[in-house]
Amino acid sequence: MDYAIDVPPLNTLAVAGRDERFPVNRVFCVGRNYAAHAREMGKDPDREPPFFFMKPANAVIDATRVPTVPYPPKTANYHHEIELVVAIAEGGRDIAVADALAHVYGYAVGLDMTRRDLQLEARDKGRPWEFGKSFAGSAPIGALRRAADGFHPASGAITLTVNGQARQASDISKLIWSVSECIATLSEYEALEPGDLIMTGTPEGVNAVLPGDVMQGAIDGLGEIRVTVIA
Ligand code: MN
Repeated sequence: MDYAIDVPPLNTLAVAGRDERFPVNRVFCVGRNYAAHAREMGKDPDREPPFFFMKPANAVIDATRVPTVPYPPKTANYHHEIELVVAIAEGGRDIAVADALAHVYGYAVGLDMTRRDLQLEARDKGRPWEFGKSFAGSAPIGALRRAADGFHPASGAITLTVNGQARQASDISKLIWSVSECIATLSEYEALEPGDLIMTGTPEGVNAVLPGDVMQGAIDGLGEIRVTVIA
């Protein structure tokens, strides 16, 4: 087929211990999915239905190949959010909670990098979050660990250090909405497709980084990512 312009590159993620790569389709992100983070954002962590926002596929950086994230323009408050990432292998609509994990390809450690000043200004004015959340390079993600190997994390430490100092530390058992519940709810609004990612939300302790800072994020069973912020 002839294309009118060069075809944009496919964004892919590494799979731990394998040569195959995971092609990224869409990136859905869950907002305020840990109570202590909802409180630090000035919101009530009541168990309202989960809400979602999106990032473009070119937000995704394979942190195992590119261990850097560029400091983006138009912000003076660039925040880290360490998150459990779920990769979807099998799509579907109206997926039942009990069936949800059968749709998962695997899991990884990821960062939902956020221009917090732009996000909060948009939030407070009732505007979309895109310029705060949805920009190229805003989602460094580590290697996927496959669900086919029998791995479905439901508890375990999730941590982030910056320059070796503790910033975020929680446990994924504190997710207000579990991985299964996020998949089920999302699939009521939009049919999930193979290649979709779900970033499941961040625990408390979000804070700013500057060029030169080294972020190290980890989740029990999923290893670690190490990403340096560059100018
Ligand atoms: Mn987030």
